[in-house]
Parts: sequence; structure tokens; C-alpha cells
Amino acid sequence: MTAHSNIYPTKALQELDAAHHWHPFSDMKSLNEEGSRVITHADGVWLTDSDGKRILDGMAGLWCVQVGHGRREIADAVYKQMNELSYYNTFFKTTHPPAIALSEKLAKLAPAHMNKVFYCSSGSEANDTVFRMVRTYWDKMGKPEKKVIIGRWNGYHGSTLAGTSLGGMKAMHGQGDLPIPGVHHIDQPYWFGEGHEMSPEEFGVFAARKLEETIDEIGEDKVAAFIAEPIQGAGGVIIPPETYWPEIRRILKERDILFVSDEVICGFGRLGEWFGADYYGTKPDLMPIAKGLTSGYLPMGGVMVSDRVAEGLMLAGGEFYHGYTYSGHPACAAAALANLEIIEREGLVERVKTDIGPYLQERWLKLGDHPLVGEARMKGLMGALELVPNKKDPHKPFENVGTVGTICRDISFGNGMVMRAVRDSLIISPPLVLTHEEADFLVKTAEKTLDDTYQVLKKDGWLG
Ligand code: PMP
Repeated sequence: MTAHSNIYPTKALQELDAAHHWHPFSDMKSLNEEGSRVITHADGVWLTDSDGKRILDGMAGLWCVQVGHGRREIADAVYKQMNELSYYNTFFKTTHPPAIALSEKLAKLAPAHMNKVFYCSSGSEANDTVFRMVRTYWDKMGKPEKKVIIGRWNGYHGSTLAGTSLGGMKAMHGQGDLPIPGVHHIDQPYWFGEGHEMSPEEFGVFAARKLEETIDEIGEDKVAAFIAEPIQGAGGVIIPPETYWPEIRRILKERDILFVSDEVICGFGRLGEWFGADYYGTKPDLMPIAKGLTSGYLPMGGVMVSDRVAEGLMLAGGEFYHGYTYSGHPACAAAALANLEIIEREGLVERVKTDIGPYLQERWLKLGDHPLVGEARMKGLMGALELVPNKKDPHKPFENVGTVGTICRDISFGNGMVMRAVRDSLIISPPLVLTHEEADFLVKTAEKTLDDTYQVLKKDGWLG
């Protein structure tokens, strides 16, 4: 078969897919029995499947399609670049105009003290780069005993060895005997699920002080870095209480360890600022980036490096033995530049802050009144609904965690909208170009999905 212009019936595509295609993060046995949904086209915030059904892409692909699907301008920029220089490496004392232009652009957009970028092809590779950079930095600084990196339970930093290890997904650790040595995890600032016996403000400070306790237990002289997402995405859009980041900032300021703000989801406007670090006023030493950098049009990631770390790594000269064939790939860099140009020209970051962000938040939060919802939360354009069996006792979860979330996710798909299930919560992260009308559709569909799910659960005796 050919890749374009689908002429095959859905069933034939599903059978071929089941025969040869191994999907990421999937139970292949049950997926092959059920059959994958085949997406054939996308435009703006709308996907079309192989049966011609239109579906609102409430997840912006996988948290990445900031500018919406089908932007001709990005395709044209890539086409032009591929005709000029489709590929050359950046290893052998060589560079090329797209990598130069993109690096200059990123240095301008990033916080003022971050002026260099190391390229790779994904968020996972960015975090593998972080892992080696952090330890190499301390070696160069004459402190090779500073090796431990602290992450958070239920944090997500990718699925390579370092990415999985730095992340705190226990099910992932169970496959491949991870984490690798020298990684510690502290509890997450998940008030709804783990902290509701305190006020959110108290819990924010309490959760932040876990970092302080852990650094002091291990010894500041042995701790290299702390890594965290400004808001946990894959963990279920965990928005920390307002007191969390200021307290983390205090703790980090008092101790000489590096801070890594994983901006793979929060970067490029998702919170109404260019980076989550701008939103929360943290001062990272390193920032892994990916996803919204190219709006997913081509795979590209990177690590933004602060002046402090860059100077440290270059201090005595010597090579950093690290890099990828596709580091700074010219076509990907061209896609990133065209994408950033659209974000700037259309004022999408500002739009999240002052227009579509508040518009959607106001309506999304009202879904918290639904009998199935224990909490509705949203920041910028990322939100979650916690589904609970009994609204009067909202922190008590469903039995068989994950089943109800999946039921509701499937109903949402059927109703014409992608929401993602994490445990028994439903999450969204729509493209930043979402219009008011589309936001209305999103909320209306979410409401209908909750109603439909409620009926199914009631019939099957799930509700308390
Ligand atoms: N960090 C964060 C915060 C992420 O959300 C992700 C992906 N969801 C990654 C890293 C890994 O990125 P990738 O899938 O591109 O490897």
C-alpha cells in the first residue's frame, strides 16, 4: 500500500496494522483484537478518521500541535530546506544556517540567562542529554561525587533509560529493571490525590519540603540536580498548589544543586508564557524542550543550557562525548523556525494568557459541578477532570483504578473528541489556536461524555 490518499477500507487497514505495527504504550494483544482507529487527515483542531468521522483533537496530538494541524507554511519551509540542504551533521566542526538561526531564536525566547541549545530528536533524548550533562558538569567543576539526580514519583521525562529513570512511573520502572543507579524520587505535589487532609497551601509547602529533606538526607555534596515538570502532564495534569514552586525555589537557592525544568509540555505557550519556568518564576539551569518546538510537524528536541552550565562545561576545554546523527537536523530546524514564526505572528502565547485560556478555563471549571467529577482543574490550556464514584466523598477513588477513565475516554472518542485518560481522570491539552466556538464544542462534548459515562456506570453498579 502507499502512505498517502487512503483508498483502503478501515478493516483492511486495521488488519495490516495489527499484523506488523507495534504501538507505543499499548497492550498489543487487546489492541489487535479491538483494532486501531485510523487517522487519515487533520486540519486546524480537527482530525478525520478513515470512516470520515471528524474528531476534535483535545490533546493537540500528544501535547504538541500548538499551531494546529495542516499549516501549509511549515510544510513549505521544510520543502524549501530539503531542496537546499536536506541533511548534514553538526559533529565535524560544521554547522548550517537553519541550526544557527534556530539557536539564535531560542536563545531570545528562553529566559535571559539561557543562551545555548543542544539538539536532539525528542523529549526523551533531551533528558538523556540532561543526565549526562549534569554529571559531566559536576565532574568538570571538580565535584565528581555530586551524582544523584532527584525526580518525582509520577513525573514523566520520557521512555529511554535515563528518561524512564528520572521519571517516576512505577509501571515503567518495572520493565527493564529501572531506575538506573543514582536516581531518587520524592512525592509529587498532587493535592487532590495525596494531600487533601491539608489545605492546598499547606500541602504545597509540605510537598516542596520533601525535596529539602531528601537533599539533606543524601547530602548536598552528593546531589547533582533536581528535575521536574512545571505542571506534570502525563501524570494527569497535576497543578501544584501556589505555594509549591516558591518553596522549591527557596530550597534550591540555599543549596548548590542544578535545577532542570522539563519544558517538553509546558514550553512554547501552553501556560500562556513561553516556558513554564517563566510562568512560575523558577530559574532553571537546564530546560529540556521538544513537542511544541515544531508543533510536532517534524521530530525535534533540545536542551536549553544556562550560561552557568555552559561555562562550566567549557571551562577546561575537552569534548562532551555526546550527540545524535540528527542533532540540529536542517529540515527539523526549518520546521521549528516556521512554527515559532506562526506562534509569534499570531500572538498565540498571549492568546492563551488573556483570551482562549481564561475563556476555556471558566467553562471547564464548571464541569466540576457534574455528579461524576470530584475536581475540575486547568492552567493555561491544560486541564483535568477527576472522576469519582461518590461526589460527597470525592477523594475516594473507584475500584480497579483506570477502568472508568478508559470507559469515559472511549465514550469521548465516540462523541467526537479526543480526551486522554490518566488513571480515572480525563485530561485535555488542545492546540493554542482553538477558537471560542471550538472551546464551546469541547466543553459541550465533555459534558455529554460525562452524562453518557454516568449512565453506563449507573447501569453497571459502579457508583457509590
Ligand atoms: N518530558 C515530558 C515532560 C514529556 O511530557 C514527554 C513526552 N510526553 C517527554 C519528556 C518525552 O518526550 P518524547 O516522547 O518526545 O521522547
